[in-house]
Order: sequence, then C-alpha cells, then structure tokens
Amino acid sequence: MPGLHQKTFSTIAKRVYSQNERLAEEVFGQAASIVRQEHIRYYHLQADEDAILDISVSFDGSWLTRGHKSLIGIGCVIDVLTGLIIDGHVLSLHCHVCAQMGDWIKRETPHCYEQWKQEHIEKGECTINFEGSSGMMEVRAAEVLWGRFVQRHNLRYTTMVSDGDSKAFNKLLEVQPYGPDVVILKEDCINHVGKRFGTALKNLVANCSKKGITLGGRGHGRLTAETIRKLQIYYTRAIRSGRSAEEMRRGILAGLYHGYSTDEYPQHQFCPPGPDSWCFFKRSIGEHQYPTGHKQRVNTPLDYKLLHQHLEPIYNRLSSVDLLRRCDIKTTQNPNESFHHSVWSRCSKKNFHSLKRVEFALLSAEAEQNSGPTALSTIKTKLGFQEGEHGQRLGQARERKRVYKSSFEQQQKAKTREKKTAAAREKEAEEAQHTRRACFEVGGDQNPFNFPFFFLPNFQS
Ligand SMILES: [Zn+2]
Ligand SMILES: [Zn+2]
Repeated sequence: MPGLHQKTFSTIAKRVYSQNERLAEEVFGQAASIVRQEHIRYYHLQADEDAILDISVSFDGSWLTRGHKSLIGIGCVIDVLTGLIIDGHVLSLHCHVCAQMGDWIKRETPHCYEQWKQEHIEKGECTINFEGSSGMMEVRAAEVLWGRFVQRHNLRYTTMVSDGDSKAFNKLLEVQPYGPDVVILKEDCINHVGKRFGTALKNLVANCSKKGITLGGRGHGRLTAETIRKLQIYYTRAIRSGRSAEEMRRGILAGLYHGYSTDEYPQHQFCPPGPDSWCFFKRSIGEHQYPTGHKQRVNTPLDYKLLHQHLEPIYNRLSSVDLLRRCDIKTTQNPNESFHHSVWSRCSKKNFHSLKRVEFALLSAEAEQNSGPTALSTIKTKLGFQEGEHGQRLGQARERKRVYKSSFEQQQKAKTREKKTAAAREKEAEEAQHTRRACFEVGGDQNPFNFPFFFLPNFQS
C-alpha cells in the first residue's frame, strides 16, 4: 500500500497539532467541571461557581526513554475521587529545527544565529520548553500544573499523592503556588510504601548473608522470599484497612507478632479481638478456650530468636505514625501508571517524537480514558476530519472490549493472573539465587565438568 508523502504527512500533522491547545482546553475543561460537580455532590458542599475547591490528586511523571537522558517527559494529574485525568503537561529538551537548521546557521553564519534564534522562538516554532536535566522534568511539570489550574477551573490541588521520591513535592512547598496560607499535603502511594517494605526485608536478608548470618533458607520460621511476599501483603493490607494511623500501626505489628507466636509464648497483643477476628487465638479466647496448635495454625511463622533483633528496627521505621499518616486516603499511583502506558502506546518509546506529537497523544489518551474510545471520533470531528465507517466500527468494538474488561469477573480473573505471575517471578528469582549459591559452593571457576553448575549436586550424588 503506498504511504503518504513526507510533505503531505507533515501538512496534516501540522494541521492536527495546531489545535492542541484548543483541544486541551476542551478536554481538560470538561473533566474539571465533572470533578467539580462530583466533589460538590459527594461532600455536600454549598459552593457557587466562583468558589475555589480543594481536591486531592495523584501526580506522577514519565519519560519517553528510560534512564536519565530522555528528551521528552510528561507529568499528569489525576483526581483521586473520580479517577479522571484532569491535566497533563509535556516537556521537551529538543527542537528539530534548532538541531538541524540552527546548527547549520551557527556553523556557516555565526553572526546571524542569535537573531535567527530569537525570531524562531517569537514565531512559536521552537519546541524546547525546558532547560535542565531529564530527572528535573517531573519537578518542572508539577510546578506548571499546580500553577495554572486554580485560575482556569477554580480547583486547588491541596493534597498530592506521589511515590517516595518527593522532589516535586518539595518544589511545590518552595514555590507555594496558592500563597503562603494554603499548605499542600503529601500522601504516599500505598503500593510504593508496600514495595519499600518488601525491599527493606529483601535487603536485610542479603546484608545478613554477607555477614554470614542466614535468615532465609529452609526451616520453620525462616525469612524466605515467600514469607517476605506474605509479610508485604499483610503490611499493605493493614494500611488499607486501618482507619487511623494508630490502627494501621497495630495492624502491621499484628502481622509480625502473630507470626512470632508459639504455644509456649503466644504474642497476640496486636491481633484484633472478637469472634470475627482473623486471628485463631483471639477467636478462641472469645469462645473461652485456650487455643494451641500454633505450629499448624500460624500461616506465616517467624522465628522470634533469630529474626526479632533484625526485624524490629525495620518495623519500627516503617510503621511510624508519621509515615502512616501520609497513607490516609489509601490511594495508589496505579491510575497514573496505566495512563502513561496509554500515552506511550500512541507514540512508541522505541522512536523519538516531537513535543507536539506527544502533546496530541496525551490529549487523545486522556479523552479516551475519561470518556471511552468513542471520544476519538469526537476529536476527529472537532479537528475537521470526517469519521469513516471503519473508524466508528473500531471505536465501538474497543468500547465493548473496555466494558467487558472492567466487569467484575474479568477483574477477579486478572487479579488471579497477576498473583500467579508474581509468584512465578519470585520463584524464578529464588531459583536463580540458589543456582548462584551452588556455583559459589562448588568453587566457581574450578568446576572441572563442563556442565551447568546447577547439575553438579545431582551429578556428585
Ligand atoms: Zn527550536
Ligand atoms: Zn494473633
């Protein structure tokens, strides 16, 4: 099939991208007005049109290329209550014209360069809108997004959900976009907090092993990869279900001390009481019995003597009330990550794309995420293109797929699939570690047999 000529493509692309700003106004404006209405309805607010509303949003940045050398980066803001994407900003360190023509002028007629550059910028042709390192793009995006929204839609982002890295948040504290009297609060993404906990335990096992102390391995109550995975689940679950920071802390400690418990020394002081408790000990106490059989009934046993001295500082640090207070609205950055995925699926990370192209990808991803695949045909109409029969059919098919995917059973299936994949990944990592250890034990390079090392133990026996 013959493709478009480069010039034809550029003309159409220019026509499409020239509408970016107008589209952004419409797409984001629509989302903002829904967010506004929903907040008023949900919190029973008595707010007229000009009243400023304070909302909680999750914010995250993403880059076109991995590492710290990306020339394009995006930042987006998602409302926590409705899950709608309400704003996004693209930053670019690169301009194709500057790189090609600018370089040529600089080389051939250096005295004209400054004037040319100024004209180029004044005409609005230059796509460089940021100077600095790629890593700082996220910070700059936050600054822009926080700065402009209050004027446009009378909404203030007074709570920011973000990952552990708080450069963007610190910048906002410094800039004070809403003046010195309005404090912006930070909430942590609970998935990131959970991951931090898992990583701390994994590092603990690795560090101890360097010192010759084995915390993992076989045996009752050892800190294996599977135990760490379970402890991480208990930790995240305690955060999710706790109604206050203190309740979360008790829940987290319950997971640890319930694991330490034995028939001789039960430690269920943090486990929830009552007949509905998940803890068999507290349940039985409610029924006026003194339960035994800890060895069989504690699902994640932990060896108190071996582990407590190592686990205590980690648990103390990661169950501090200060940290848990930042998990109050119990939300994650998953929507941001999924949105980034949707943007990059429109302009592949394998190739470089211009600022305008990424801006358009962001807009169409946003429209589709908020209003479904049929939003694309609305965009096309707004841009003056006629929606063809095939476009309509594909849009409807994608919409049906989206509805089907979001059904309850499908979500459950997806969750089971995810669990299985995660377990398989853990197992693989553990096996790889065993293999490495086997290599080490049989003397690495001195292996006299030309077999893979993991065959050696069998071979010898
Ligand atoms: Zn330029
Ligand atoms: Zn218990």
